[in-house]
Amino acid sequence: MPRTQLPSIDFSSWKKPSDVSICTLGSHTALQILKGARDEGFRTRLVSIKAHAPMYRHFGLADELIELPEYKDFFSVEAKLLETPTIMIPHGTFTSRLSAEDNKRMCVPYYGNKEILDVESDRNRQRDWLALAGLNLPEHLEGPADIDRPTIVKYFGAQGGKGYFMAKNEREFEAGIARFGNQPHVIQEYIIGVPLFIHYFYSPLTDELEIMSIDRRYETNVDSLGRIPLKNQEGVHIDPSFVVVGNSPLVLRESLLAEAFTMGRKVVEAAKKVCPPRGFWGPFCLETIITPESKFFVIEISARIVAGTNLFIEGSPYTWLKYDVPMSTGRRIAREFKSAMKLQRLEELLS
Ligand code: AMP
Repeated sequence: MPRTQLPSIDFSSWKKPSDVSICTLGSHTALQILKGARDEGFRTRLVSIKAHAPMYRHFGLADELIELPEYKDFFSVEAKLLETPTIMIPHGTFTSRLSAEDNKRMCVPYYGNKEILDVESDRNRQRDWLALAGLNLPEHLEGPADIDRPTIVKYFGAQGGKGYFMAKNEREFEAGIARFGNQPHVIQEYIIGVPLFIHYFYSPLTDELEIMSIDRRYETNVDSLGRIPLKNQEGVHIDPSFVVVGNSPLVLRESLLAEAFTMGRKVVEAAKKVCPPRGFWGPFCLETIITPESKFFVIEISARIVAGTNLFIEGSPYTWLKYDVPMSTGRRIAREFKSAMKLQRLEELLS
């Protein structure tokens, strides 16, 4: 049976940051998490696959580096992690390389609410959560016969935009399915606008929601099609592809910022109904598309730190307005633990 309760640990003996190690898996946002932990006075541990260990040694941010042959061998080192006070910070690799069940059976105190994993990994449940929050969502069309506008066909479990295709009528849908295969998918209205990824942080200790930073992704070839004039595209068969190759920073028009805060708050409140009673907390990201009419559509949520925050290891324009030190999302996480330890509320942040 998966474990959803914390093992019995007396957190009151975890008195100061230097008594505790912040730990993560070596990939995704690990460098940022370790740097932030160290900046706030915590010890650091990293679990890395052998092939990546030399790179992590190069940066020297892990007080202890534990090597694994492969991610799936994680449980062979868990007993070691449990020997000293350690908090595990999940990121994208925890869900891409390990299963939700693996995450749930981890015994090391884990930042965030594991119950949200099942909601997030099921496209329908995730959509219900966002709809309950009252956010604008692109319409889902029942079947190919209903395609009466540009759509994007998304396979379940696809990652980084791989294997999506566009269809503006039934014929294009059938051609796409013939090429990409008939696996479970959704047919979603295609929103023309700027993809904007808003990185939030929610603290249940203070009930405060912050916007840490914003990025937009560079996706090829959809973002590069504009470089080829339409007349030169004619006659050349180009399928738009949404594979992510990088991220660039973005600041939002200030008149839209209040709405970005409202959207984040609505998601936090709706999570309390979706995963009662605690909801979810910590870093999260709303993937939005903003139209020329300045309307936000939300296409997805990530309920943890996202890779776009790596652009902001020195902080972002938004964190600079609020903090007097460079505040990355990784450092904000460590600061949250520091506050929780002072208040003796550490347990509330863990599952
Ligand atoms: P996702 O896997 O949902 O993060 O989507 C990957 C990329 O596909 C996004 O960054 C967008 O560029 C694009 N995309 C996904 N859904 C839509 C949509 N409904 N309308 C327009 N573009 C979309």
